[in-house]
Amino acid sequence: MRRPLIAGNWKMNLSRTQCVALARQIASGLSDSPAVDVAVFPPAVYLDAVITANTGLKVGAQNVNENADGAFTGEVSCSMLQDLHASAVILGHSERRNLMGETSEQVNRKILAALKAGLTPIVCVGELLEQRQAGQTDQVVLEQCRISLAGLSAEQMQQTVIAYEPVWAIGTGQVATPAQAEEVHASIRQWLAKSFSPTTAAQVRILYGGSVKADNAGELLSQENIDGALVGGASLKAESFLGIIHATKAEKVA
Ligand code: PEP
Repeated sequence: MRRPLIAGNWKMNLSRTQCVALARQIASGLSDSPAVDVAVFPPAVYLDAVITANTGLKVGAQNVNENADGAFTGEVSCSMLQDLHASAVILGHSERRNLMGETSEQVNRKILAALKAGLTPIVCVGELLEQRQAGQTDQVVLEQCRISLAGLSAEQMQQTVIAYEPVWAIGTGQVATPAQAEEVHASIRQWLAKSFSPTTAAQVRILYGGSVKADNAGELLSQENIDGALVGGASLKAESFLGIIHATKAEKVA
């Protein structure tokens, strides 16, 4: 049984005070033993403040550099995240791939470095609108998986989370239909079974991301291969983020 995960990517938003307050509000809306993993990803400079607020939420970074240390101005290493007690890191988000030119090869190096440091990588893959329209969705997504996840052992793969985020659905309000999302999630899981093993495929959590809101989360999460959500805009308010968490509970937790 895969434990659902709802992750909030706060991107380059909020102040230090707002980050801590939001984490506290989210945590106070959860039951004492939530059946859903909840993680938040504040801007890097506020990680320490959110982690030391001790809310019980998992807290992670939105990116990391693949190098151990050295002359990489403005970058943050895995050991720095470890030092802060961050538990996860989002890698290969489409904004980094498309705005910063990050490649799947680079994402692969970051994943291996993160795993070595004991951080859970949340690896984003997804097609552009024109690639979907050209019928290339599976090809694009599975190629991103193949390169980004190269060289991982089955055990490392089981510690890794994949987020399918169609680029045309991110921040647009245009959510994938549950059937569109499930089709890609099922392809990714089949690819995992072939590339690693059926046991590994059955254990890896695959999140959907792209305009998830409290009112569409239930239907998306009712799909067999959708194990949670990576949420941008709707994670910036406790009420809407908690709405998604509660919809997950209703769908995935008996
Ligand atoms: C994201 O940026 O990962 C994302 C899914 O954003 P939104 O929920 O705003 O579409």
